This record gives sequence, C-alpha cells and structure tokens, in this order.
Amino acid sequence: MEIKIAKNYGFCAGVKNALEIVNKTVLTSKDKKIYMLNKIVHNQNVIEQIKNLGVIILDDSSLTNEEKIKSISEGILIFSAHGHDKKLDLLAKKQNLEIVDTTCKKVLLNIKQIQNALLENKDVVYIGIRNHPETEASLAISDKIIFLDFFSPDYSKLNNLKNISIHNQTTLIQDDLIKIYTKIKQICQNVEVHNDICFATSLRQKSLLEVTDEDLIIIIGDKISSNSTRLYEVGKSLYPNRTVLQINSLEELTKFDLSKYKKGFITAGASTPDEVINPIIKYLQNY
Ligand code: SF4
Repeated sequence: MEIKIAKNYGFCAGVKNALEIVNKTVLTSKDKKIYMLNKIVHNQNVIEQIKNLGVIILDDSSLTNEEKIKSISEGILIFSAHGHDKKLDLLAKKQNLEIVDTTCKKVLLNIKQIQNALLENKDVVYIGIRNHPETEASLAISDKIIFLDFFSPDYSKLNNLKNISIHNQTTLIQDDLIKIYTKIKQICQNVEVHNDICFATSLRQKSLLEVTDEDLIIIIGDKISSNSTRLYEVGKSLYPNRTVLQINSLEELTKFDLSKYKKGFITAGASTPDEVINPIIKYLQNY
C-alpha cells in the first residue's frame, strides 16, 4: 500500500520528559519501592513498559487518589504528566513518600494562569472532559472554578457572570472549542479566552489536513488517550466518506481486511510510542 505519514505524530515533549524522569528515577533509586499514581500517560503499551521496570501502578478505580496514597508508605511516588491536586502532595509527605512530579510544563503554565485569574477575582470557567485527570487537577485548584463539560456544556452555569476568564484542557478539539467560546461570548460580556490547547495537540490535529487522496486513515493511539481519541474524531469529521481507524497495536490492525484500500495516511497521538508506530508503518508499506 502507498503510505503517507503525518509530519507531526507520536510522542510530544511532555510525554518524553515524563518518561525520562521515570527512567532516571528507576536507575537512581534501585533500593526503594517506586509507585505511580494512576497512568503517567494514557497508553497501555507505555504502562506495561513501566511495570516491567518494577514500578507499581496505583490505578485501582474503586479507590480515590487519597485512598491509593494512604495504602502505601515509604518509597517514591510518581505523579503523572496530567497534573494533580496539590493537596495530594501533603498526604504523600505524611505517608513518608518522596514525590517525583512529571507534570507537563504546558499544564503547569495553564495552572498558573488559572491561579492568576482567581487572584484577579475573575470568574474562572474551565472547559474539559469530565473525570479526565488534567481536568480534575485544574478543578482542584479552587471550588470557585466553574466546570463546563466539553461534550455537553451547560451554559446556564454562566448566567450572571460578568468577568469571565476561560481556560481549558490541553487535548481538546480546536474547532469544537472555538464554537464553545463563540457561544459563551454571545451570552456573556467581558470574556477573556486563553485557548490552552497545547502545541503538540494542535500540530497533530492540523497534520490531518495533509491527507489528500488517501482512502484509509489510521490513527495510532490508545482509546483511553484523550489526544489520540480527539485526533480520531477530527479525522472522522474531516473525512466522513473515508475509512478512519483508531488502533493501538499491529495485532489490532491485522484483524481488518485492508485489501480494498490503495493509499493510506498514518498518524499517531502524543502518547503513542515509536515501538507501536513503526511496526504498523512497516506492515502497511509491505501490504
Ligand atoms: S499532550 Fe500537550 S499537555 Fe499533554 S503532555 Fe503532551 S505537550 Fe504536554
């Protein structure tokens, strides 16, 4: 099959940095137990690699983050790239845990901007995906923050607000987010928009415009990954009459009969490792 590969795909700087920190921690702390609170990035292949290094992942969904931290004592606790409620730092210290924080610089910058807006007494509105760790970390900054669900925003929450500062999760879909801003501006005055989608997410979404006459579009990325799944949704909406697949392994791809396709376009989310992407590229080039 003739294959075109997106100019921007795969690991972003934030994910690379988080994994470098994990590897360094493992190498320099061989005598200590190392725990990770939830998944550092949303890709099961990456998580398996980290488990193989001996890191214990605390991701029992029946427990709260507080309960997960209280269940351990001593050792190192790694926080994910998505950011976290800073109250958890205090709890971790109480449990005699050393903290290793892998929060992405862009998320830290967004958090700082939310804090500044709160200090200026603005009505902070946060647009995000419900229960996503980055959204949870941002909402934990203050209970004054008004949450708008990216998929079903309840604009009635904004009634009577007069001085709005809008912030958002980094991995949303640019065009859909702009529609939400426009709606907010129609119903509220004095609206300040931050547009916090990160550069990596934005570049990967724009790369889908490089598709020309390819009849098969493949998005490589875990379905638990927000940026990969949004990339898939953008692909579906840009090319409704073509086949768009989201897969996270070569094994998954081999289940599809691709014989009717002549040209393929490949891209991958910001949390998808080269170890997953490269065999898929090779497979399709030889198909
Ligand atoms: S997707 Fe964006 S915000 Fe998330 S880790 Fe990568 S660069 Fe940072």
